[in-house]
Amino acid sequence: LMRLYGPLTSLSNVHVDVMTALVSFDRVFEVLDLKPMVAEKPGATDVPGGPVTIDFDDVHFRYPSAEEVSLASLESVARQDTGPSHPVLKGVTFTAEPGHLVALVGPSGAGKTTITSLVSRLYDVDSGAVRLNGLDVREATLASLRDTVGVVMQDAHLFHDTIGANLRYARPEASDEEVWQALRAAQIADLVAALPDQLDTVVGDRGYRLSGGEKQRLALARLLLKAPRVVVLDEATAHLDSESEAAVQQALKTALRGRTSLVIAHRLSTIREADEILVIADGQVAERGRHEELLERQGLYAELYRTQFSASGSPVRLAD
Ligand code: ADP
Ligand code: MG
Repeated sequence: LMRLYGPLTSLSNVHVDVMTALVSFDRVFEVLDLKPMVAEKPGATDVPGGPVTIDFDDVHFRYPSAEEVSLASLESVARQDTGPSHPVLKGVTFTAEPGHLVALVGPSGAGKTTITSLVSRLYDVDSGAVRLNGLDVREATLASLRDTVGVVMQDAHLFHDTIGANLRYARPEASDEEVWQALRAAQIADLVAALPDQLDTVVGDRGYRLSGGEKQRLALARLLLKAPRVVVLDEATAHLDSESEAAVQQALKTALRGRTSLVIAHRLSTIREADEILVIADGQVAERGRHEELLERQGLYAELYRTQFSASGSPVRLAD
């Protein structure tokens, strides 16, 4: 258990104790981009500067089995006979060029979230490599990985704290003006400005209640404030009203512009804009290309397109 608490107690951030009481561990890890399962190598170097190329080179991965993780002694009591876990990624190879948007699509359980989690080295690969500007992430300092990669997962999580504090988790030294700038770019400044306490408004379960779209835009504002060179994003599937949808879409565009992005895409508009679409199936890249090319192939993508994007009641709007 100490291995899990270790990284938390070593943080100087005074909010940590409060946060651990309020949110689950993986939420804390997600937002703070901590690396619970991996350690920094002696002699690790920073991710090379400039726009980032992401390389996945024949990546194989399976989740550590219960015996291998630090909670094994606790969990094995409840979960006997778990046995070895099954391979999740079976030779994933692709390159995201600097500034490009690579969209991941594919059936549930195919490995999309797993791929995104390897970019920030949440786990180590079993074989192959993940590289940022040529540097194997296992050779990178954890601080530079944290600075380089910004992550926004599906259910944007906000701490029970002020809007200002929620945004500054990304960059504590940011000025109020920088915070407002991020809020404007994320299409949420008007709402915050209209609140009686503005940046000092407490949000979260016991504070001011934000809609799903508002939460997503605040999470994007946090990302914009951090201004990472790489963005890893799991687009929300939650149904949004059309006004909120348009605002989130605009905020997304701003957040991704000029950054190398890996997006688990649920919106057709994002998929259409992608420089490359990777269709992930059973832990492998089954098809790759742009929207029109993939449709013409009449393969898995075309099938997914028909079932997911053309179905009535889909959250994805076909018109741009
Ligand atoms: P997708 O995002 O495409 O739906 P995931 O990457 O979440 O797929 O999951 C791929 C496979 O890995 C699934 O079989 C899933 O059950 C398994 N998996 C996902 N997360 C974990 C985890 N933390 N521990 C063990 N297995 C996991
Ligand atoms: Mg997923």
